[in-house]
Amino acid sequence: MIRVGLTGGIGAGKSTVARTFAERGGYLVDADKIAREVVEPDSDGLRQLVDAFGPEILGADGALDRPALAARAFADEQSRTLLNSITHPLIGARTQQLIDEAPTDAVVVQDIPLLVESKMAPFFHLVVIVGADEALRLERLTTLRGLDADDARARIAAQADDAQRRAVADVWLDNSGTPEQLAVAAGRIWDERLRPLEANIRAGRPATVDPHWAAAEPDREALPGRLTNRLWAIAGDKATAVAAAGEAGVPELRITVRDAAAAEDLGPLLTAGGFPPDGSGRYASADPGRPATVVVALAD
Ligand code: ADP
Repeated sequence: MIRVGLTGGIGAGKSTVARTFAERGGYLVDADKIAREVVEPDSDGLRQLVDAFGPEILGADGALDRPALAARAFADEQSRTLLNSITHPLIGARTQQLIDEAPTDAVVVQDIPLLVESKMAPFFHLVVIVGADEALRLERLTTLRGLDADDARARIAAQADDAQRRAVADVWLDNSGTPEQLAVAAGRIWDERLRPLEANIRAGRPATVDPHWAAAEPDREALPGRLTNRLWAIAGDKATAVAAAGEAGVPELRITVRDAAAAEDLGPLLTAGGFPPDGSGRYASADPGRPATVVVALAD
């Protein structure tokens, strides 16, 4: 099973790509949908919100009145923290429950609008980002989704920018063409990156590099940092240091561990995280589009 983070600025085409992945057999976990679900009428979440912010946050039909909640919860920092302390654990638990229910060979696709802003990228096997120019997104949001232009602009400005997104993207999916072109490109990512990555991890073998995808790396300069962060996320407290060798070509990551026991514990974690053993005492990327080798070394 692998977990893929799917994101992009508002109006970029995330939902459209999520649909293509779902049609191909992806196991979709939609963050917005979960956020609505945990506060639906009669839910424990909605009861907690009423206890915290008062019955004024309910509409006449007993459902959450979002603007009324926003007026209270975004009034000051303390209220915002209180809101998050109620919703975040519920969203986290429901997300985990859905992931636990996924088949062992699933490609779990987590559609998360604020993935970059919330610094979650290292915790996925792969991050796919849908990109389109701001002007194009603005046009789509106002004409197709009926948003007011000022509102759309404000929402775009409140999010991360494309440079920040590119730095954490493993795959950049350009959506400046037609929806059909987007579907074809997303289908290719499915066939040539996501499915092979999942199969390689399950088989415990590194990937055969696909030169097309290796050349399509979204941000080569940010790549060593991106891999370092991901390896920290995989190794957790088993590692005492993670460093990337900076030369061009295949990035080499070095994880330092305290002792031989920690090195042994790390093996299965690296395989599950996307870096199975390569047969020569090292580990290598299971993603055909992102070659990398990992060396585990004992601390002096
Ligand atoms: P997001 O989920 O990233 O906010 P959507 O997938 O909802 O974005 O796309 C925003 C709007 O633009 C939708 O109405 C969608 O149908 C439309 N759209 C997406 N991709 C294209 C495209 N390539 N050409 C024209 N319209 C598109």
